[in-house]
Amino acid sequence: MIVLNSVAELDEWRRDLPAGSVVVLVPTMGALHTGHLELVRTAVATPDAMVVVSIFVNPGQFGPTEDFGKYPRVLESDLAMLRGAGVAAVFTPTEMDLYPLGYRVATRVRVPRMGKRLCGKSRTRFFEGVCSVVLRLLNSVLPSQLILGEKDFQQVQVIRAMCQDLFVPVVIRSVPTVREGDGLAMSSRNRYLSVTDRGTAIQLYRALSGAMDAVWSGERDVKRIENTVRAQLAKYPAITIDYVEVVDPTIRKQRWVTHSSRLVAAIWINGTRLIDNVPLSLPSKES
Ligand code: AMP
Repeated sequence: MIVLNSVAELDEWRRDLPAGSVVVLVPTMGALHTGHLELVRTAVATPDAMVVVSIFVNPGQFGPTEDFGKYPRVLESDLAMLRGAGVAAVFTPTEMDLYPLGYRVATRVRVPRMGKRLCGKSRTRFFEGVCSVVLRLLNSVLPSQLILGEKDFQQVQVIRAMCQDLFVPVVIRSVPTVREGDGLAMSSRNRYLSVTDRGTAIQLYRALSGAMDAVWSGERDVKRIENTVRAQLAKYPAITIDYVEVVDPTIRKQRWVTHSSRLVAAIWINGTRLIDNVPLSLPSKES
């Protein structure tokens, strides 16, 4: 596993790749956990894969009052986790590398409607920041495949839309959410939670699972599902709800549950923002 600290080093590495290599990119902000490793495992299992894991805490996707300053930066332990996982290269660019003109005057990419909903509503420049950095990573790494986590469902859909609209020749694959034993979606931000808040955090997945069960038992009315989830979460004073919605893959609201419905939610627990989502699968014969 080689560590590439700049775009120049990346270019050199890429030039010497054996013919027929399939470059697979797993973009991350570091502070790696088992969820990230699942993405890496998926990438490594690709035939002829040369897996590149990028680690870059992207200033563009943090709002002025968000946790950019305190976001965990633990490169040595990240590298230790990746060693032996079959990764060919870890790309750790600097801000000047990815934004040669400086972030403030950098070219931005915005996916208008989808990127303004849900997370894009409370975090107004978030998806602009995500798309701008992902496109820079794609254009520097030039992968044939991009691996993303369904934990960030809206992010996957926004990046898909961007790549489709801008003719970016990359295959996007998504990996189901990896959870702690009690169901909490793994996240680098879980480490901000106090012991008490960690106990409360499980309520998010419990509420979403309750909705999955209800759909399995015949519930199809989106309003009722959303209201039940909100009521469940509202029982916990430490929780502030940002959104609870059932959407389709284009992030449009739905009225009735369909095969492609996704229940998505975001909450704050004493200042820590958590997101999660689940597919609302219908019994297979139903449409
Ligand atoms: P991040 O470092 O949080 O920007 O995440 C990097 C990638 O890992 C994104 O594609 C995330 O969706 C994915 N990811 C983060 N947490 C999980 C998880 N618990 N399960 C699956 N993928 C995840």
